[in-house]
Amino acid sequence: MTSIIDRKWQLFPIVTLIVTMALGLNYFKITLEKWVEASMTGYAQSLLSDITYEIEEDNPDFLTISIDDYIGHLTQASADQRITVIDPNGIVVGDSSLSARALSGLDNHGNRPEFNEAWENGTGKAIRYSQTQQVDLLYVAKKLYVSGNEYVIRLSLPLHLLGKMAQHLMAILVVLAVASVALLATSSYISNRQITARVQKEQGLQEERIAQRTYEIELLHRLANMLAACKSISEAQDVVADLIPRILGDINGSVAIMRSSRNILEVKLDWGQPWPAAHTYAPEECWSLRKGKFHLTHDDFHCISCAHMSAVGDDQTMCIPLTAHGNTIGMLHLYFGEPNVSVDQHTRQLAFTVAEHLGLALANLNMQEKLRFQAVSDPLTGLYNRRHFEEQLDMALLNAERDGEEMSLLMLDLDHFKRFNDNFGHDAGDYVLKTISNLLLEHASSNDIVCRLGGEELAIIVPNSNAEQALTYAKSICDKVRELHLEMKGLSLGRLGVSIGVAQAPTDTNDAEQLIKCADIALYDAKEQGRDRAIHYAKSLEQKKKAQLSSV
Ligand code: GH3
Ligand code: MG
Ligand code: MG
Repeated sequence: MTSIIDRKWQLFPIVTLIVTMALGLNYFKITLEKWVEASMTGYAQSLLSDITYEIEEDNPDFLTISIDDYIGHLTQASADQRITVIDPNGIVVGDSSLSARALSGLDNHGNRPEFNEAWENGTGKAIRYSQTQQVDLLYVAKKLYVSGNEYVIRLSLPLHLLGKMAQHLMAILVVLAVASVALLATSSYISNRQITARVQKEQGLQEERIAQRTYEIELLHRLANMLAACKSISEAQDVVADLIPRILGDINGSVAIMRSSRNILEVKLDWGQPWPAAHTYAPEECWSLRKGKFHLTHDDFHCISCAHMSAVGDDQTMCIPLTAHGNTIGMLHLYFGEPNVSVDQHTRQLAFTVAEHLGLALANLNMQEKLRFQAVSDPLTGLYNRRHFEEQLDMALLNAERDGEEMSLLMLDLDHFKRFNDNFGHDAGDYVLKTISNLLLEHASSNDIVCRLGGEELAIIVPNSNAEQALTYAKSICDKVRELHLEMKGLSLGRLGVSIGVAQAPTDTNDAEQLIKCADIALYDAKEQGRDRAIHYAKSLEQKKKAQLSSV
């Protein structure tokens, strides 16, 4: 609908031009006809004046000579210029084109308008179609006194000669007008087509740009969403490796995270090729960190590269600080692979937006990790707490059952810890708890789960171990604790022992609660038997049975 209206408006100037030209041509035609008529009339009247002057000069006696003969011999008379003399009664008495005899056959000219006008006013004029000559004729007439008699002398001229000229002129003009309209219409059509093509091309480019921006916005949105949903740095690695190259294109990049000590940054995420520059570096090695804003190796004003990028030489790099809640938590690094790469405004803007999302996501990950750790850990010792112990024990039992393996549970209780507290104070007790916890962590393998169940009661879940291995492990813990030289602020705290009860799944039981009970029984036995030792539930049961049998 709109395009139809548009097209109509496009045709408007052409239509206006055609209408104006038609009106102009019509006016020109009317003016030309008037001019032809006026100039023919002027010409005819001057001829007639010449004729009357000649007649007056000659003053012929029309009573003695034939008017018709006299008229026929006038120099002005010709085939096209017919001279007629009419008497007051309207009878034609002389005609330059007719013989005297033929005159008698002519009808009375008393009703001719030019005759009547000349008779009344002295001169007359009329334009009429001649049946005999079959053309339009111009008649001019004049009253004449010759030898005391009155006549009307009339001259007729055909209009068609000048009329034809006027028609030719009109035809030339019409052709010129049509040609100029056609030229104008063609040129306006061509320029219109060119403009339309250019507009369409520009529109296409604009649409392409909008589609590209929309795609980038969608990618950035997804990056933010996916990063927010990440639970670990390795998940974040998968997300950045997939999404960031789609946003920034074929640019190698990495993210270095600031350690909590704030003296080292460590590359934790990268995408594209393996990160070619330093994987750990000090904050002062990065210009961007020192300036607190992005740094490009090469721009219009300098060529200065960061020390941590020395491995890539003079190549173009870009560093952007990652901030969250006002703190710099890391750096985004981009490596462009060549020295003379100019980084356009759009790429910079995209990199800044990516950096914003990464900063918030990493801060979020940090916070999540802290909360998760707090939820499962004991604040004094840093060991896992009872809740996590219970969850992990269930899990370890399920895994052992699924894999057809054994697992062990070690329950630990420090010996005479109350007395230790009483002797050295509660702070010293806390210190010892932390020291022994650290010792257990150092001694444990990566699969072992070391927990503080409360007070000075500790537990270790040992997956994939049999009774022998578990007992050996427990005894080695006893040895290590016993060997500890406890010292606080230069004050010797003496030595401490630990008693350990060991229980086995599935050999002792398959149930978590029962397993804890079994380990507790073994621990109780260890205390009973003099503390500072490790006892396996099954073995202690065996011994008890043997003792019972031998006492019977
Ligand atoms: P046993 O050898 O029979 O285990 O003797 P014990 O003195 O260790 O006896 P018990 O296990 O019943 O006593 C636990 C003591 O541990 C009581 C309390 O003084 C101490 N204790 C518990 N929690 C903490 C703690 O968080 N910090 C400190 N410093 N002491 C604690
Ligand atoms: Mg206790
Ligand atoms: Mg105790």
